[in-house]
Amino acid sequence: MSINGGGEDSTLLATDDMRAAARRVREEARNARDDGEEPRAARAPDPATQRRTRPIPEPEPLKSHGPARVVALCNQKGGVGKTTSTINLGAALTEYGRRVLLVDFDPQGALSVGLGVQPHDLELSVYNLLMQRDITPDEVIRPTRVENLDLLPANIDLSAAEVQLVQEVAREYTLQRVLEPIVPNYDVILIDCAPSLGLLTVNALTASNGIVVPLECEFFALRGLAMLTDTIGKVQDRLNPKLEIVGILGTMFDGRTTHAREVLDRVVQAFDERVFHTVIRRTVKFPETTVVGEPITTYAPSSQAATQYRDLAKEVLARCPAG
Ligand code: ADP
Ligand code: MG
Repeated sequence: MSINGGGEDSTLLATDDMRAAARRVREEARNARDDGEEPRAARAPDPATQRRTRPIPEPEPLKSHGPARVVALCNQKGGVGKTTSTINLGAALTEYGRRVLLVDFDPQGALSVGLGVQPHDLELSVYNLLMQRDITPDEVIRPTRVENLDLLPANIDLSAAEVQLVQEVAREYTLQRVLEPIVPNYDVILIDCAPSLGLLTVNALTASNGIVVPLECEFFALRGLAMLTDTIGKVQDRLNPKLEIVGILGTMFDGRTTHAREVLDRVVQAFDERVFHTVIRRTVKFPETTVVGEPITTYAPSSQAATQYRDLAKEVLARCPAG
């Protein structure tokens, strides 16, 4: 069973390729440091348009649901569009008939807020599910205003789990263990990671089949990538060999600045086809959606931003292998 209705996976990055990519990124970051703060002028004036483009196939309708492909949205840098992308990719996936669960795995609870849930009002959150054996997922998961889009909410309690989990047996597998019984109920489970590479994020990566790395199109984005790919490599080696990078997502792209284009160009040079062809442009619409507590795909369905997340959903479905 798969979320893309079948098909072989040949597009995902193998471990060795990823190590090579990580090496390239480290070199990139080192070269950039040697250059001073700014990247050298990009070879291609507009990577967003100059890349080879391939038509993204329309997702096939599913005949039945589950088991879910689990994908973590991960970058230890804050403010790069993890939460925004989790909400809107999730909502866009439901438009293609997928049943989606969003897991808020950041003690800040921004994903929950973005879906209209007030974290301090929560009686039960993902924290209780992780730490209390008598709590079942049904007690914590709640529907959202979007059909087929469910939420496993979080609040500041989750920050205590980072400390308490250290004492647990198989502490890195805790999230995987609690998600296991609900994997058959969904087609995609997206995990919104906290901006750190600590034990919570390691739990998210251990529970996942794939990773989407949102990357703000600004220069310092590249430095963090080397550390992230190192962590991914360690999780693959020691905890979860099936983990793969689904793709790197350029976010907050401002086509008017050469800087944003240069950064995207460098990322494409380093990661090539691992970089999604879909790029999320900067728009004031996203801060607005947080206020109303719903995805852009329902708040402004015909906006450019909604279209971009639908394109991303198609790319993700095309890249995800059979589960
Ligand atoms: P993270 O989860 O990585 O910390 P967020 O998704 O919370 O990042 O985004 C950080 C801030 O940037 C939020 O205020 C969000 O509304 C805003 N934002 C996200 N994506 C965009 C975009 N494409 N254009 C403009 N603002 C954005
Ligand atoms: Mg966030």
